[in-house]
Amino acid sequence: MVFAHDTEMSLQAAVALVNTHEPPETLETVADLTAFFEAFGYTGRHDRTLAELEDVRTLRPRLRELLTADRDAAVEIVNDLLAEHHALPRLVRHAPLDWHIHAVPDDAPLATRVAVETAMAMIDVIRDDELSRLGICADDDCDGIVLDLSRNRSRRFCSVTCGNRNAVAAYRARQAAD
Ligand SMILES: [Zn+2]
Ligand SMILES: [Zn+2]
Repeated sequence: MVFAHDTEMSLQAAVALVNTHEPPETLETVADLTAFFEAFGYTGRHDRTLAELEDVRTLRPRLRELLTADRDAAVEIVNDLLAEHHALPRLVRHAPLDWHIHAVPDDAPLATRVAVETAMAMIDVIRDDELSRLGICADDDCDGIVLDLSRNRSRRFCSVTCGNRNAVAAYRARQAAD
């Protein structure tokens, strides 16, 4: 593990959320947002409304900016997000997680919680000077974000789809060269 468990979970969720904006768009319905909520183990308030969906969709460009920023720029975005949402970190324990941090009330809107959790996670990334764990997909036609939490820093593609497409292309290129 590179970072604390809740930090890694928050980063994974934020990257997945930002990447839903890559074509083809995959966060279009309230059901899409519910699937995201469940896949990343969110708890607390979940309105299942179009307004909530719109707030989370609107958050994506800002999260993308944060996750792809250089270290000093990331600091400014983190500090802005924490101030804007009046973050007040506290330790909580609820199933299935051990002690971890919540920084806004559990009844805060989902978009607020995602924004603040991402900011809190980036605090660790910035302090450890590990921003190189975040990059852009090596696929020529994809701008998805890659989160590499592997020991040997071997991850180059944002998704299995991008990885497979490039493996096939590389295979064909070798065949053609033979
Ligand atoms: Zn929690
Ligand atoms: Zn990709």
